[in-house]
Amino acid sequence: MSNFRVIILGAGPAGLFTAHGLTAAGIDYVVLERQPEIVRYKGALIVLWPPLLRLLDQLGIYESVKQLSTPLPSQTKFTHSGEPLCGGDAFVALEHELGYPTLGLSRGNLIRTLYETLPERATKVRANANVVNIETHKDGVRVHLADGSGIDGSIVIAGDGVHSPTRELIQRLRHDSSATGDLKPTDPMVANFMSLFGHTRSDRTDIAMGDFAESHGPGIASQSARLRDAIYFTVVKRLEKPVSDKRSFTTEEINKFAQEMSDVTVFPGVKLKEIWPLREETNAVLLHQEEGMAEKWHHGRIVLVGDAAHKMTSMNGQGALSAILSATVLINSLRATLKKNPRPSTQELEMAFTQYETSRKGAVKPVLDLGVFISRFITWMGEETEAMDREVSRDLNLVEDSLKKLLPLFTPSPIFDFLPFEGKQGHTPWEVDSKPPIRARL
Ligand SMILES: Cc1cc2nc3c(=O)[nH]c(=O)nc-3n(C[C@H](O)[C@H](O)[C@H](O)COP(=O)(O)OP(=O)(O)OC[C@H]3O[C@@H](n4cnc5c(N)ncnc54)[C@H](O)[C@@H]3O)c2cc1C
Repeated sequence: MSNFRVIILGAGPAGLFTAHGLTAAGIDYVVLERQPEIVRYKGALIVLWPPLLRLLDQLGIYESVKQLSTPLPSQTKFTHSGEPLCGGDAFVALEHELGYPTLGLSRGNLIRTLYETLPERATKVRANANVVNIETHKDGVRVHLADGSGIDGSIVIAGDGVHSPTRELIQRLRHDSSATGDLKPTDPMVANFMSLFGHTRSDRTDIAMGDFAESHGPGIASQSARLRDAIYFTVVKRLEKPVSDKRSFTTEEINKFAQEMSDVTVFPGVKLKEIWPLREETNAVLLHQEEGMAEKWHHGRIVLVGDAAHKMTSMNGQGALSAILSATVLINSLRATLKKNPRPSTQELEMAFTQYETSRKGAVKPVLDLGVFISRFITWMGEETEAMDREVSRDLNLVEDSLKKLLPLFTPSPIFDFLPFEGKQGHTPWEVDSKPPIRARL
């Protein structure tokens, strides 16, 4: 599409998926990642929900992702001390309804597949490219890198994560151009939890393959699963007070945290202390888990996507899904604008970005709210929550409850509106469809 060129910041799930979407839309791009390598095995498990797999199917990379993933058919919930709460085949039921399974995949393998299936990755994805500033002018942008070089483009899509420097820049630009505000913009992403993520390749066959294990308790929860390649675990602790500054933790701090959590049951009959000594040391990370939504997602020719715009804790497992759905809506909106005018003005682009922001803010809000609720509920905010959890669990039909919560969030999920596609269907129809034109089907 003309010589319109998108500069994508960050090669996380949001950035690399955006690159795939732009490729499909015929829009030129370059991805800039500040880390020295694109494929890194930091982090733990990412849950690939049906709406995300449907989009990967539309892009033709579902089978590649499936090959590396492990089906997650069921869930088991219990307390720290190992008392059962509830369980069931909720994810099998979800597949019946929507046609796609729910899969578990490491963040590293998700990045690897998104990267390795990207056409022209060798020339279009650059590692060691730390963006330090963005200049905007009437017809385009110039992105400055830490090595002193500059890259020109038409717009910036920033998938630069929860501590997004671009979000700060947008806030500053809006703040400077606002007639009223002389208050310093505040960080919208606040952490009330911290988490230990890790994995081990030990062969504990007594841990059920693909069962999503979740423990609940006062101030602490865990979520773990044994996948085909490794056993992934996350232990979450509620912080005494909220924090918003970026913080990295030393190996000593990580080990101290693991020691504190050693008696937490992470799988039925398995405590953290049994699998922690077997971990892959370089891949264990301790992170603050922020929650929040940026007030404005764009300014001029700069727009945010993924965690930079909306962040939830790993406890509702929808960070990657939300990032990818946002990227889809943004690309649909951008492509429609470029179809009308291949050299859109800043004003036309801002209209496209406003449409994207409005649509996604409405969709993300209930997901964020659900995440806020789940995080507090499973880390028992007080005796009342514990009593409620125990009572609800006793009477709960987990399958029915999961479908009731998830189907209204998932069925309206977007797909690329410019790619003819007949995806999988279950008993509950997707609200947004993209059927091939009649002639193409003959
Ligand atoms: C190391 C790590 C591990 C994670 N592990 C898990 C996990 O186990 N489970 C889970 O559910 N979620 C995890 N997450 C979060 C999950 O990846 C996100 O919620 C979701 O996938 C949305 O991703 P994103 O692409 O918006 O942001 P991110 O995944 O954070 O990616 C942002 C990317 O932007 C790059 N970047 C930032 N600033 C610049 C800059 N100035 N110039 C160039 N590049 C820049 C970063 O290096 C990073 O690669 C993890 C995130 C990270 C960074």
